[in-house]
Amino acid sequence: MNDTPPAAAPRGLLCDMDGVIYHGSRILPGTLELIDWLRQTRTPFLFLTNSSERSPRELSEKLHRLGVDIEEGHFYTSAMATAAFLSSQTPGGSAYVLGQPGLINALYEAGFSTNDVNPDYVVVGETPMYTYETIKKAVSLVLKGARLIGTNPDLTGPAEHGIIPACGALVAPIELATGVKAYFVGKPNPLMMRTGLSLLGCPREAALIVGDRMDTDIISGIEAGIETVLVLSGVTRREDLARFGYGPGHILDHVGQLPALMGQALPARACASGAPAAKGEEATW
Ligand SMILES: [Mg+2]
Repeated sequence: MNDTPPAAAPRGLLCDMDGVIYHGSRILPGTLELIDWLRQTRTPFLFLTNSSERSPRELSEKLHRLGVDIEEGHFYTSAMATAAFLSSQTPGGSAYVLGQPGLINALYEAGFSTNDVNPDYVVVGETPMYTYETIKKAVSLVLKGARLIGTNPDLTGPAEHGIIPACGALVAPIELATGVKAYFVGKPNPLMMRTGLSLLGCPREAALIVGDRMDTDIISGIEAGIETVLVLSGVTRREDLARFGYGPGHILDHVGQLPALMGQALPARACASGAPAAKGEEATW
């Protein structure tokens, strides 16, 4: 890949996934056109998800099965954001983890070890491996002083056949039993967007956030100082907008309309590179 952006490089893109590029096992209109355009224009892009269950490789494989090829370096999950945050707070720390390989591997790669005796953190993500015994263990460790972290505050998530409990719902019993409130790293925490920008190698003034939810994607973009685009292909409907005390910068029906917006309506500003930057590289905001 040529890392030199063209002279009038468009903005970098932080793009939500569910309700934006796919829904369930269906690719949404405009997704293939958007990805073609991102590649042709060498626009830096990251696909974000609050789900901590899948690793970037698993997400890449899932999209491949749906007919879209995106390299694993273009995915950013709440598990990766959590690992980056915890390693910045406690380098080489330890955690008792209730989560799937997507979370466990991200923590391991960030230099964390697992510990079920006296960990620095109890970290909770989405997982079907959730039992009374694991809640009991998590509660006892938090009461002994471990900090309680959730990868994301979502109470539910989409599944093939309906709605399933997500991280926020799994953390709740531990919060209730300990009286300790968890710290959640994923959206709407703007931390997720700021660390995503860092990976993108893009100053916030040159980036754009695209999502389908006002209460996670758009609010975190606004609070991170990044221009926002709401797409109406997912959760939020146009008639919902009046309920919120804030509004998106732009509203589109679907992501197929993004190239026109990014190429014409917005001033072109160059990012640092044509691909996501290496892990740990600092953004320049
Ligand atoms: Mg979404």
